[in-house]
Amino acid sequence: MTLVPVCSFCGHKQKEVKRLILGPTGNICDSCVQVCQGVMTEGDAAEVPVKSEPLPDFSTLPKPVELYAFLNQYVIGQDKAKRVLSVAAYNHYKRLYAHSDAAFSDVELQKSNILLVGPTGSGKTLLAQSLARRLNVPFTIADATTLTESGYVGEDVESMLFRLYQVAGQDIAKAQRGIVFIDEIDKISRKSENASITRDVSGEGVQQALLKMLEGTHVNVPARGGRKNPQQEFMTIDTSQILFIVGGAFHGIEDIVSHRLDSKTFGFLGKEEKKHVVANVDPYAEIQAEDLQKFGLIPELIGRLPVIAPLEALDEAALVQILTVPKNALVKQYQKLMAIDGVMVTFELEALLLVAKIAAAKKMGARALRSILESLMLGPMFDAPAARVKEIVINRASVNAYMQDHLSYGQRELVLRK
Ligand code: ADP
Repeated sequence: MTLVPVCSFCGHKQKEVKRLILGPTGNICDSCVQVCQGVMTEGDAAEVPVKSEPLPDFSTLPKPVELYAFLNQYVIGQDKAKRVLSVAAYNHYKRLYAHSDAAFSDVELQKSNILLVGPTGSGKTLLAQSLARRLNVPFTIADATTLTESGYVGEDVESMLFRLYQVAGQDIAKAQRGIVFIDEIDKISRKSENASITRDVSGEGVQQALLKMLEGTHVNVPARGGRKNPQQEFMTIDTSQILFIVGGAFHGIEDIVSHRLDSKTFGFLGKEEKKHVVANVDPYAEIQAEDLQKFGLIPELIGRLPVIAPLEALDEAALVQILTVPKNALVKQYQKLMAIDGVMVTFELEALLLVAKIAAAKKMGARALRSILESLMLGPMFDAPAARVKEIVINRASVNAYMQDHLSYGQRELVLRK
């Protein structure tokens, strides 16, 4: 008995169709080919909507002075970081215009990503976020400690780019001009104690993966997000124009810097003079590539972060300002929230000073402020709207009461002794 070839899809025999393509494990007829083709093109159109907002006119690019002034509205202190960041961001976007203009194609302007070094809660994320807002470019934040080399448990670098694409309104061209902030870069140093067994243990692999992205590469990103799988549609995102701002606290780098300064830079001074000079230098402001390498970043990655912007730890005076001065300062936010119920809230300066002291003692920078105010305001926010109270005053006694409830005896002593 001879077997009559049939279409493996519709089951029609050879003589019932115009053409039948025979394969080693199955056959397909002409009409099924057409149906499949339709499915493929339909799928394509739905996958990656091609949108492309053109580069805005160069005259709309804010100058460094304007960027700095904008940052000043939201970020207290950190003057050096604001200046460095304003210039670096301006240069980055200028480079983009030069890139697209044949008149400037003679000299290739290299990409400079930025490293923000400063303690937790000193404003690194806020700076990067505010910058993106003023430049009106898509912005996303990633945590280096959750990033992994492909194949490990955690977040792939691709998902970070996918988020950027989403905030860019699914416009690849716009995403490619965005800003990515990668926090906690110091935690993936080679010597990091933060390594876990489920991901790359040394941190070096993640640094390598980041390196490629920072210097500019074409990354295949799953068009619908999620982890890579072979059946998925991919889109290609070119990272060469994305501005990467990476941040980290680099605990312990002070000692590396001081040691270097002590032995090299001030080598000509006498022992006592040297001690005095080194003690008066802010080590964060003196960080150089070799210190970062000693800390555990790979030299290639450091090479891709030529702009270093140092941030200082915020003192109590700065914390009080953070509570009251920025456009969206916490005090202003709570006042507005209560004003909607017709309640006027006043924060006495003494109370704010004590709040700043508590936050400083917690050693979390400005990060602690929000939770302290939230606790302080919980009672008033609960009672006042129904009680038809017209005015609330938060004074030192209110903050003392908060301390009784939330701090141990030892912590209270520490705060009050400061
Ligand atoms: P970091 O990234 O350095 O750890 P963040 O920028 O995330 O710190 O700061 C946490 C919060 O503290 C911010 O949302 C902001 O409200 C506040 N904050 C921190 N530093 C400053 C600053 N210099 N000026 C104003 N607010 C700040």
